[in-house]
Amino acid sequence: TRVLLTGGSGFIAAHTLDVLLKHGHSVVTTVRSEAKAQKIKAAYPDHGKDKLDFAIVPDIAQPNAFDKAVISDPPFEAVLHTASPFHFNVTNVQKDLLDPAIIGTTGILNSIKKNAPSVKHVVITSSFASIVNPSKGFWPGHTYSEADWNPITREEAEENAMMGYRASKTFAEKAAWDFLEKEKPNFAVATINPPMVFGPIVHNLESLDSMNTSNQRLLWAAQGKFKDEIPATGVYLWVDVRDVAEAHVAAFEKPEAANKRFFTVAGYFSNRDICKIIKSKFPQYKDLPSDSTPGGDYPEGGIQNGLYGFSNKRSIDVLGLKYKTLEESVIDSIKSFQAVGL
Ligand code: NDP
Repeated sequence: TRVLLTGGSGFIAAHTLDVLLKHGHSVVTTVRSEAKAQKIKAAYPDHGKDKLDFAIVPDIAQPNAFDKAVISDPPFEAVLHTASPFHFNVTNVQKDLLDPAIIGTTGILNSIKKNAPSVKHVVITSSFASIVNPSKGFWPGHTYSEADWNPITREEAEENAMMGYRASKTFAEKAAWDFLEKEKPNFAVATINPPMVFGPIVHNLESLDSMNTSNQRLLWAAQGKFKDEIPATGVYLWVDVRDVAEAHVAAFEKPEAANKRFFTVAGYFSNRDICKIIKSKFPQYKDLPSDSTPGGDYPEGGIQNGLYGFSNKRSIDVLGLKYKTLEESVIDSIKSFQAVGL
């Protein structure tokens, strides 16, 4: 299948590209600059232009940014939209988070409808951020699933960068489902909604300082930053990036996946769990917390009685996911950081 993948320089996109090429698909990926294209190309020296090619889209927040990128010969049948800001270096929630997320999503859907009638499947990287209801806290007794929506408002988006990010994902995903309902395009939509994503970095990193947001806590733990106190975990659900990548590809390969959300979650984690795994497998990192270091635990009552449940049933039944364990994910992550100088 001829596939367009947006944001090819990203953490999740790099793994998604890998799965696409392994499955024999022919891929064009968008990046912001020629230099980023060259770096990805260098990772696949055996793939000619017919298997891996690039389109430059410098800013997805520009309306019509994707008008040209969606045109291809042979024409695209599937589009995977992963590009969206995921960081908290935010001065203006509207410009830095909401615009690229929302205009990026509606923009690519409009461009496909206008210029790429051959596209049958669109897969959008959404998030647990558009499922979770932060005002409910740990919500013991509730089971999060694809049926849940974050009720966040435009005003709450301004509270801080975290709320801004959650709003950006919620509003962007809603905009996609609204588009499907109102515009009745030729294509089906599926969304992948992962919680915290860990896993090895395979995309080009200039240095450990440019670590993607969700892997930062693994890096910081190994670097000794949690030695005296482990920070609060925040979101207690995680998934491995390789499973998220498989989900994106299965979501257009499997016809049953059409027009569904997928809550791709492997299980629970706490920051303390992460520290313990790193400490037991990598004795060279001396500044990890001990059992008496405060912080980083599950809420009172533990997983059983103190925390929300989750259902990943649909992702297993429809997408066929087999989730990796936290131990495997953390170990492979740290090994990949070592290659960049940890
Ligand atoms: P990365 O930061 O590694 O990837 C983000 C990608 O989006 C990069 O390729 C980035 O390009 C691109 N991008 C951001 N803003 C723009 C813009 N204005 N114009 C063009 N490109 C832009 O993060 P992830 O791989 O983790 O995130 C990928 C997707 O997964 C996002 O949609 C994110 O919301 C979602 N997600 C991630 C989770 C996680 O825990 N990692 C959890 C749930 C969802 P560049 O690098 O050139 O800036």
